[in-house]
Amino acid sequence: MNIPFLNLQAEYYQHQEEIDEAIRRVLHSGRYILGQEVARFEEEFAAFCGTTHGVGVASGTDALLLALRALDVGPGDEVITVSHTAVATVAAIELSGARPLLVDVDPATCTLDPALLAAAITPRTRAVVPVHLYGQPADMAPILAIAQQHHLAVVEDCAQAHGASYQGRPVGSLGDVATFSFYPTKNLGAIGDGGIVVTNKAGIAGRLGLLRQYGWRERYVSALAGYNSRLDELQAAILRVRLRHLPAANDIRRRLAQAYHDQLADLPVQLPYERPGSRHVYHLYVVQSDRRDALAAHLAGQGIGTAVHYPVPVHVQPAYHRLGYDPGHLPVTEQLAGRILSLPLYPSMPAGHLETVVAAIRHFATGI
Ligand SMILES: *Cc1c(COP(=O)(O)O)cnc(C)c1O
Repeated sequence: MNIPFLNLQAEYYQHQEEIDEAIRRVLHSGRYILGQEVARFEEEFAAFCGTTHGVGVASGTDALLLALRALDVGPGDEVITVSHTAVATVAAIELSGARPLLVDVDPATCTLDPALLAAAITPRTRAVVPVHLYGQPADMAPILAIAQQHHLAVVEDCAQAHGASYQGRPVGSLGDVATFSFYPTKNLGAIGDGGIVVTNKAGIAGRLGLLRQYGWRERYVSALAGYNSRLDELQAAILRVRLRHLPAANDIRRRLAQAYHDQLADLPVQLPYERPGSRHVYHLYVVQSDRRDALAAHLAGQGIGTAVHYPVPVHVQPAYHRLGYDPGHLPVTEQLAGRILSLPLYPSMPAGHLETVVAAIRHFATGI
């Protein structure tokens, strides 16, 4: 591809010296697990989110699983989330032992439709996991109000929204607890796997600190039945470098998104909707088209990489048929899956690439 969908080496080269120096520092420290780098990163990232506590873990999936376990959600409980998400959201709920209840999304923002939330709640429902998909916060005000009314815990899945905000408040600080992934493609990405849970609740943070390491309060003595899910020192050191550059990187993402908005405005593709009062951080720039597959093929023919997030809704995937949702059950989600297309957008995207993508879409739509 001459216009790749994403270029992770280019992202590394942007801050190569600082990252290399951070790696060297860890290599020479002799401390590779749960040392100063993780402790400092947890403080710095929690502050970035406007929360008091952060607990580094091995992945975004583990962050969700351990957040639910810290809330004491497990077998016999239900957790509401969306089917229009990375499969990890639903997988983590199942790993906790709880049953996922899947609801449809709002067609404008592709995030959990609050109008459908109350009707999905049963006496067994313990929590709701809104996903801030593509970098845009879910509509948290009504979600929080309904959750409070029904005594549900709110776990924000922020894996795609580092640095986004809702009505002036950063994501991660809106619910009871929030989870982030540092998978390399995310807005804040490690050079490997990583995740974090943030919260303002000291009790939950304390439980998470035990759960991520065998339930140890003191070494070799498990106070809780725990797990092994630790963020490592190398990733934490790299993430500390990248966290310093995240606000500027998100600004670039927003500028690129604005350029797509302006240049695609007269073409027959549906552009992403940005809810007023929210700061969208464009983890992905997702357009919609009735002719999505033909458009993607046309762009591929011009050497332009695109992707679909996600082509098969979770409830339609073979592993999740047993959740009992028939096709047709979540009409907005199912329609989106056939229409969405993610265009190239990343902070180090070379000048001119975006204009080439726009020209190729124009050619597809108008023949010019
Ligand atoms: C990436 C992602 C996850 C999972 O994170 P991992 O670090 O890959 O385990 C969870 N939820 C959403 C919405 C994601 O995009």
